[in-house]
Amino acid sequence: MIRIGFFIILGAGLASAQDFEYGASGRITGKARYCGSGRPHAGGPSLDINNGCGTCIYAARGGTAYYYGGCRNFCSNGDGCNGAAGNYVQIYHTAGYKTRYLHGLAGTQVTGTVSESRKILKMGSTGGSGASHLHQDIWRNGTRLTAWLNSVPPCYSTVTRGYNIPYNFPSISAPANNSPWGCN
Ligand SMILES: [Zn+2]
Repeated sequence: MIRIGFFIILGAGLASAQDFEYGASGRITGKARYCGSGRPHAGGPSLDINNGCGTCIYAARGGTAYYYGGCRNFCSNGDGCNGAAGNYVQIYHTAGYKTRYLHGLAGTQVTGTVSESRKILKMGSTGGSGASHLHQDIWRNGTRLTAWLNSVPPCYSTVTRGYNIPYNFPSISAPANNSPWGCN
């Protein structure tokens, strides 16, 4: 009986609504403020994950992906193109959510219907960016969400793509699974 109880509790934990994944592996260099300088994050609180140019970026959740490009590719010191966003992918999800993945490399994007953990872009430094990184943000009904950033590890921690952001986003169902898979 104790064993059955344990599994019931575990099942409830797995079903809790932690519904968006880190879009890339790397080191956190920005949240509400930039790590280091402490200046407020340009455009509003968002997650910056630094890694090498060309590192794969993945859908934080399934949805419909659109690409906004036209910027020259850079691996450092971008040119401010696209209002500083550079080349980016935006994914519309259920329940009014959308996620954005900024500063990517042109020619690496995936659009249309994408599933969670699907590769959607490669990391670069396009737009207003000084070094190769992913800028990931989450919106709902046109408003940028910020509270979830308090749930991610401190500045300069390493995060791994495919793992859930440990925050319960309202009005959205639990993820199918949480197993990272190949860069494809
Ligand atoms: Zn950013």
